Amino acid sequence: MARFRDERFRWTVRNAAATIPFYRRLLAVAGVDPLSIRGLADRGRLPLVTRDALRQAGQEAWRQDVPAGQRWLASTSGSSGNPLILLYHQAERVRMHAVNLDCEWLYGHRPWRLAMGLGTQLVSPQGTWLQRLGLLRWIRVDPARPVREWVDLFERHRPYVLRGYPSMLREFCVEAQRRGGLKWRPRVLATGGELYPPELDELVHRTFGFSPITCYGAMETGRMAFSCTGGGGLHVRMDAVDLEILREGVPVGPGQSGEVVLTSLIFTCMPLIRYPVGDLAVWDDSPCACGLWWPKLRLHEGRGSDVLALPDGRRVPITTLGGPIGRVPGVRQYQFIQTGPTALTVRYSADGDAREVGAALALIRGQLPGVQVRSERVERIGHSVTGKVPRFIRQGM
Ligand SMILES: [Zn+2]
Repeated sequence: MARFRDERFRWTVRNAAATIPFYRRLLAVAGVDPLSIRGLADRGRLPLVTRDALRQAGQEAWRQDVPAGQRWLASTSGSSGNPLILLYHQAERVRMHAVNLDCEWLYGHRPWRLAMGLGTQLVSPQGTWLQRLGLLRWIRVDPARPVREWVDLFERHRPYVLRGYPSMLREFCVEAQRRGGLKWRPRVLATGGELYPPELDELVHRTFGFSPITCYGAMETGRMAFSCTGGGGLHVRMDAVDLEILREGVPVGPGQSGEVVLTSLIFTCMPLIRYPVGDLAVWDDSPCACGLWWPKLRLHEGRGSDVLALPDGRRVPITTLGGPIGRVPGVRQYQFIQTGPTALTVRYSADGDAREVGAALALIRGQLPGVQVRSERVERIGHSVTGKVPRFIRQGM
């Protein structure tokens, strides 16, 4: 594995320098000769590549010679700012899909079984030979449609696998509970694309009888890690990515939190070399019961951008505020909006009168002395095109 990873890394850097104008310039400015990069041990000599730099580079960050018929364009959801346009080769999409399947295979997923996706990003590529061979059977759910239709579709088709963003999974579970439970249970339940909030687990457990596999990945990165079958922590996909955890540019020690920096070992059209993903994590070196040796990490407080920053210097991770409101029975969706330096709105949608919301707000206020916390009940919080609901947004600041 170490030899494979070094080889892929070396190739990725050389390919990027040879075929992608953005990387050619970046390495020239940093004074790095791509041929001098022999493996992952040399990665520290390469500069970090931020999302903003890639966005500014636009098509210059792409391989120029991909035939139009084999190009596949995608976009990040833009929940953390402006979206980034991504370019893949069809073959890369199939490779990403294979990585996803392999993670879920460990949990009993079989690709010829029917799967259902809550959220478009989590659905696999269409029109490929995999589908023609019957190895991809997906039902898609339109996030804009009412939740009762999602559950109807689920009960009618009885999928073997259900994949969903945590926010959409919550809506699904609340609706299922409102109906008195599900008649059908999937064999495999997977979630990803957003942080899986701990307060959601109780509801998911009640609805499905087990906890989901949590997958760590993003649109631009593909699957980076997935939850261990033997308990806590996420195993890094060693064959697809290289992950570093850095604090001020230096690798962290055990138990210290830092920023996740990704290098993709499978992308060739729009390589990502030392790309800060925007999440905080710690290495988890606890012994593992599942038998897999791939290193484990734990996400820490979610995205670095999901932090409420107050003028007096306090930094409150949104995960710590989600608990009270997320545990109120009947709350389908919630979202935190910072509307001023010390003003926070909790927006939510709910079934029935959701009487306990008042108590939840009191708990949140107790965590945030000096902050004006108000609530706003809406019919439904709109989903992004892909189906996500950002947990935290800053408005007019
Ligand atoms: Zn494990």
